[in-house]
Amino acid sequence: MHDVGAGRISQNGNKAGTSATLPLVSRVADEQTIVWVRDVPIGGADAVVMAGPCSVESRRQVIETAIAVKESGAVILRGGAYKPRTSPYDFQGLGVEGLKLLREAGDVTEMPVVTEVMSEEDIDIICDHADMLQVGARNMQNFALLRKLAKTGKPILLKRGASATIKEWLSAAEYLLHGGNEHVVLCERGIKTFDSSLRNTLDLAGVALVKEMTHLPVIVDPSHATGKRSLIAATAKAALAVGADGVIVEVHPEPEVALSDGAQSLTFPGFAAMMDSLRSPLRHIHQRKELAVCT
Ligand code: PEP
Ligand code: MN
Repeated sequence: MHDVGAGRISQNGNKAGTSATLPLVSRVADEQTIVWVRDVPIGGADAVVMAGPCSVESRRQVIETAIAVKESGAVILRGGAYKPRTSPYDFQGLGVEGLKLLREAGDVTEMPVVTEVMSEEDIDIICDHADMLQVGARNMQNFALLRKLAKTGKPILLKRGASATIKEWLSAAEYLLHGGNEHVVLCERGIKTFDSSLRNTLDLAGVALVKEMTHLPVIVDPSHATGKRSLIAATAKAALAVGADGVIVEVHPEPEVALSDGAQSLTFPGFAAMMDSLRSPLRHIHQRKELAVCT
């Protein structure tokens, strides 16, 4: 972990020139922060895969999913207990019961767990159960929540707001570092654009740009970015190709009956196939055969 104390502000080496306005998150020269979630380093040489259900629905669902994703190579378990749903009539999450089940699934599989914090009043109970706290897209600019989360000292997964500029996203991260928490991982999860063909538009160039601008690790959520199961493996691979430090993916034992985000959740075999494709190299570049040189 690099030192975020006084004296980090530098005019040198900050390619995007944000060191004056975003002194704590801006990258100086080639520095790179590693955020540890228990024993898992995010931002190091290896990309990290987080996976699990959108919502924790039952003991069986979350434990089966944890076992399956761990077997295929995930190292952090995700699962929502407090869900930010567009409609108040949709499943809102199991709350404390969901937290306990997520913790149990993490313990059974020896994986750290990440879950979303929607409200200041839930912070303490979530800290008792989770290893990493997710700030969802809808709360990226909830500054009161960010200030409180800064005080927890827990690793934070800060999702980009669907309509947030990169500067606004980094400013939200600056709140967390300014409040005393330097354990921040950024997550691009798609933004709203004119095109409604997909749930969101994955801003991969933005990921590459943010990697230049900040020393914080940056991961990508291809599930929420696309909303479409068939596109997750390809976009996850593309994310790693542009320099993301990892991906977070939704997985469900039976996506067709999921209580949230089934259409963008991988099955267990689908997740295993995605992991295989992430491990195989990108395409080779075609080379023309050497022409015989006439002398
Ligand atoms: C989620 O992770 O299930 C979620 C609601 O994410 P986002 O805040 O990116 O929509
Ligand atoms: Mn979801």
